[in-house]
Amino acid sequence: MTSFLEFAKICNRIEGISGSIEMTSVVAGFLKSVSDEELEIVTRFIMGHVFPVWSKEELGIGPSLLYSAVSRTSSLPVKQIEKLVKETGDIGSAAEKAITSGKTHLGFFSEGELSIKDVYLRFRNIAGLTGKGSQDAKIKNLQYLFGAAKPAEIVYLARLSIEELRIGVGEGIVRDAIAEAFDVSAELVERGYMLTNDFGLVAYTAKKEGKKGLGKLGVVINRPLKMMLAQIAAGINEAVEEMGTVAVEWKYDGARVQIHKEGGNITIYSRKLEDVTSSLPDIVKSIRSGVSAGSVILDGEAVALGSDKRPMAFQEILRRFRRKYDISATALEIPLYLNLFDILYLNGESLIDIPLLQRRKKLEDACDSSILAEQVITGDTAVVEAIYKEALAAGHEGVMLKNPDSFYTPGKRGKNWLKLKPIMETLDLVVIGGDWGEGRRARLIGSYLLACRDPYTDKFLSIGRVATGITDEQLEELTNLFKELAVSESGTQVEFEPKIVFEVAFEEIQKSPNYDSGYALRFPRLVNVRSDKSVEDADSIERVEQLYTGQKGK
Ligand code: AMP
Repeated sequence: MTSFLEFAKICNRIEGISGSIEMTSVVAGFLKSVSDEELEIVTRFIMGHVFPVWSKEELGIGPSLLYSAVSRTSSLPVKQIEKLVKETGDIGSAAEKAITSGKTHLGFFSEGELSIKDVYLRFRNIAGLTGKGSQDAKIKNLQYLFGAAKPAEIVYLARLSIEELRIGVGEGIVRDAIAEAFDVSAELVERGYMLTNDFGLVAYTAKKEGKKGLGKLGVVINRPLKMMLAQIAAGINEAVEEMGTVAVEWKYDGARVQIHKEGGNITIYSRKLEDVTSSLPDIVKSIRSGVSAGSVILDGEAVALGSDKRPMAFQEILRRFRRKYDISATALEIPLYLNLFDILYLNGESLIDIPLLQRRKKLEDACDSSILAEQVITGDTAVVEAIYKEALAAGHEGVMLKNPDSFYTPGKRGKNWLKLKPIMETLDLVVIGGDWGEGRRARLIGSYLLACRDPYTDKFLSIGRVATGITDEQLEELTNLFKELAVSESGTQVEFEPKIVFEVAFEEIQKSPNYDSGYALRFPRLVNVRSDKSVEDADSIERVEQLYTGQKGK
């Protein structure tokens, strides 16, 4: 049995590593060292998950419940815990400080030690607590764990309890670590993950059954698979040229849903693959009446339409997805409509490896047309253009252009699904650094490090680099301008005094451990140098967070 202390030590070691190769091999070594029984648990723990993301089991511990547990274990007031969190910037270190300095460290296990399995079972206990008195019972369970833990363990127990381990081990590292530990290819591990959504299961399968076992992992009803994603289309002409004929559908302004129906049993998963069935009784009803197939997995977009039949703001849909109480009242207020566009499984058979056109045929056979997204197959750019305009006029986002011959590739953002939509938002960001270019641009600063403001500390938090949308002429000008503002230089990287604001357009905001803000921009491009703005006018981290949560499906 592996102790939780061992896990904590590994986490601590990983936190000190910056290179992904070294990180991968430490994770791989650890995965190899644990028992079969511990492997699934450890693989999830290392990514900050206690259960598979799709599972109904949920810890339900938020920061305030955690603070209360730390407060009770340490006998320090909650205010004091909050202060420690502010000072350290980390709930893990704050919990450790509080509990080790507090008076009532219980030390239940002072003779023995807390094992990884003890922690997991205690978390399962917590997840099982519902209803009256459950908050208090959760706190007691956490208190028990904190009481039993050594200082080094408290840090990671606290972070794990809110499922934010923050040691920088992401999906890529875990994928490669499983491949390294059990001598299988990273592609097979990746495929298994996209299909099962559970690295725990993938690691276990790799260890016990190797390549063969991984290859056998497939689409299973009631286990959500990652959703296929879209890339940005360069334009209608380019897309039609590349694909020949395209399957055109509206890009509905709603929220993605994956629906599993097995007989009368219906489960709806959100884009994050969380079970949202109980919040969406109207969707369940449309499935019951509109889907004739016995056992099926469907993919589509749920939209909320106002009385004018135009899509409501995305926040309204989110309200529906998050709703836990008074569901029927909100359902009346914000009715949702289904637009199904894909079918991934039908009566015991996986359909992801047959072409889109054939899947569409099966989708049409299985469902009533009233709940299907319309699809037009065409090679005529004028037809695509007309559908695009029609979708925008109806208040939707644009169109999706899909390759009619393509398979459904779970979790992949490939070129078989292209999205075409107008550019939406821009952010005003402060330039805090830059990189000298290469080759022809070696004498020019080719990319610029951007940051948003933290209004509390007045610090600038990095959020990404922009290198696109800048003409050669502009690069010369900017390089001259920024020469004056350089404060330090190392290798090709230069740090600038934060003086200049760039207006930057982007496709999407993503969470990212690589930048101080915790976010990164996808496809950023320079729109304007905002010499009319001072750095105090630049956008704050709060606006970034707002835009992030306002994005589709987040
Ligand atoms: P984006 O979120 O901008 O990457 O665009 C992809 C998203 O568009 C998908 O995840 C769906 O939620 C949404 N969407 C709306 N209509 C469609 C459609 N007809 N086909 C595929 N995705 C669609």
